[in-house]
Amino acid sequence: MMLNEAESSGDEGQTGGQRFQHPEDPEILGMEIPDDAGPHREALIEILSRIPPHWGRWIDCEAGWYHLIIELHEHLLDLDPNYVVQQIKQKYGALRYYAGSSISDPVVQERFSALVDVAERFSKSVCEVCGEQARLSVSDDPEPAYKTICADCAAASAAAGGRRYRPYVTPPR
Ligand SMILES: [Zn+2]
Repeated sequence: MMLNEAESSGDEGQTGGQRFQHPEDPEILGMEIPDDAGPHREALIEILSRIPPHWGRWIDCEAGWYHLIIELHEHLLDLDPNYVVQQIKQKYGALRYYAGSSISDPVVQERFSALVDVAERFSKSVCEVCGEQARLSVSDDPEPAYKTICADCAAASAAAGGRRYRPYVTPPR
């Protein structure tokens, strides 16, 4: 975890030109703003700023879901302007938005959870890559990866030598 001081002390000259950053630079707060954020950049910074700095401020999913995340964020803001984000990632092909309300009112808590649930379920119909309509899919790897991906993006992944996805079908009982 800690930088090895003996190792890093010798080559300060190499990075010297890039080390001075504006104090307001979000990077200094440990944020990893996605390179592909595009028009969503400001909104994603606002969301990342809600993650406590030591928790790791990044979004672990592809750009097709950014609009989903931002829409959910706006609904949560209406409910609780001070809500906190813990982690945002893809798991088993679905969005996971870990967040907590600062308001202890059980009605607010319930509504907060319901909003997150709806967005997470909805993510399983939105291509994580491009944001178009998609299906939960599974790769043909020995250890299959799940991803909600549209036919075009799945074809592009296979053509580029990446994972090969096919729509996931619930196994019969
Ligand atoms: Zn797609």
